[in-house]
Amino acid sequence: MPGAEHRSRPSSVLTTIVLGCVAILAFWWFGTPTSAGATPGTALVSAGELAGLLASFLVCAQVLLVARVPWFERAVGFDKLTSWHRSLGTTVVLLVVTHVLLMVVGGMFVDQATPWGEAMIMLRSYPEMLSALAGTAVFVVVGMSSARLMRRYLSHEWWFAVHLTIYLGIYLTFGHQVFGGRHLVGNPVAQTLWLTMYAGTGLAILWWRIGIPVLDNLRMGLRVETVVPEATGTVSVWLRGKGVDRLAARGGQFFLLRFMTAGHLATAHPYSVSIVPTDERLRFTIGALGDHSTAMRHIRPGTRVFVEGPFGRFTAGRSRSNRALLIAGGAGIGPVRALAEELVGAGRDVVVLHRGHSADRLALSREFPEAETLHYIPLTGRRRELGYDPLGPTSLGRLVPDIARRDVFICGPEGMTETVVASARALRVPRTAIHHEELSLS
Ligand SMILES: Cc1cc2nc3c(=O)[nH]c(=O)nc-3n(C[C@H](O)[C@H](O)[C@H](O)COP(=O)(O)OP(=O)(O)OC[C@H]3O[C@@H](n4cnc5c(N)ncnc54)[C@H](O)[C@@H]3O)c2cc1C
Repeated sequence: MPGAEHRSRPSSVLTTIVLGCVAILAFWWFGTPTSAGATPGTALVSAGELAGLLASFLVCAQVLLVARVPWFERAVGFDKLTSWHRSLGTTVVLLVVTHVLLMVVGGMFVDQATPWGEAMIMLRSYPEMLSALAGTAVFVVVGMSSARLMRRYLSHEWWFAVHLTIYLGIYLTFGHQVFGGRHLVGNPVAQTLWLTMYAGTGLAILWWRIGIPVLDNLRMGLRVETVVPEATGTVSVWLRGKGVDRLAARGGQFFLLRFMTAGHLATAHPYSVSIVPTDERLRFTIGALGDHSTAMRHIRPGTRVFVEGPFGRFTAGRSRSNRALLIAGGAGIGPVRALAEELVGAGRDVVVLHRGHSADRLALSREFPEAETLHYIPLTGRRRELGYDPLGPTSLGRLVPDIARRDVFICGPEGMTETVVASARALRVPRTAIHHEELSLS
């Protein structure tokens, strides 16, 4: 329980990626003839080759980050992995574009050709170049579809469908590396290692992202048992299946849920468990925020559900002390409810602050019975009506005078989280004792 997850090291994953880049740099350096720096053209081509090699390695790393590899999940956590995946994606697309530009411009100098002429020379002289060109186009399209500006116009479903084509892009660009790349052609050891890197990445995806979830779901046969209204705009969806406890989900963790019914098949949405799962049941408490979450109230009992998870590090294992302050707003009450259950069960002293505009919006409020080790405090009212922010430092310090000695867990809208983090810091809560879960991966 407290302290259990302190051994997790996001830096170990980052270090592995950096070491991989250093190895690629060494591989490029020792595989490049000294004459490569003799003219601007050959130097540009060599730099282009380095960009290409790094792009290939980083695209495997990027895909592995979201392959649900348990070691990554434990060390880093789903949300950070998703954010690193996104940042690496930008780097990969930039490297791919740089690779193409440098190869063409460098080749123009070497061959004394126009850009178009050089492009034609490259397409004719090297194997697998047409498919590499198509693969590059896929990379660029996927990169553009993930840009913040485009995301505003694309639904999550469309963005995800475009995003999936990156696997095609990776496949299409693989051949020209192994059969046309100067550093790999004629070097069977390097070719084998390159193939192993790609095959290992593919197998990791097949096993952890597809194989394990499919086997788990076949075993459990999860179905919607019932949908219970909890408060204005919020319902709880209960799922029932066999051996659910074998997933070892903990309070504060979430699953990706795919409801196997028309209109829901295309996407899996993240929702947190709102009770500590039993051997047969999972419960998710869902606030109506958009199309999918609003449709949850109409989901029929008996509907098959495919779950992936559990994910997330918003768990009791993060706490460092025996006292915790849990602050929930909106849909954040689900994970906070389950986390409170686990912490109280372990004999911790827990205070829950539940923020909402009005009492009818405080879902699950009846599930916090007053006890010696559990204090539930509803905080209702809009800030402009109250004339102050109940989560500002003054009010927070008054409500929880020993806050500096507590771990603070926050789950709710982004603005609320920012306010609480600032208040907690002002009240001398150490940064390491503040834990928050974002309810958005975008
Ligand atoms: C770790 C985590 C735990 C969550 N737990 C809960 C919970 O317990 N209860 C609850 O009510 N809500 C929870 N959410 C939020 C919930 O996932 C979104 O409200 C829901 O996916 C929105 O989908 P929509 O179609 O209703 O709304 P939209 O209007 O389509 O989307 C609203 C927001 O959700 C994002 N989103 C949409 N679809 C997905 C998806 N498939 N995967 C990731 N993000 C998506 C969008 O990018 C946008 O930021 C959680 C989110 C995360 C990341």
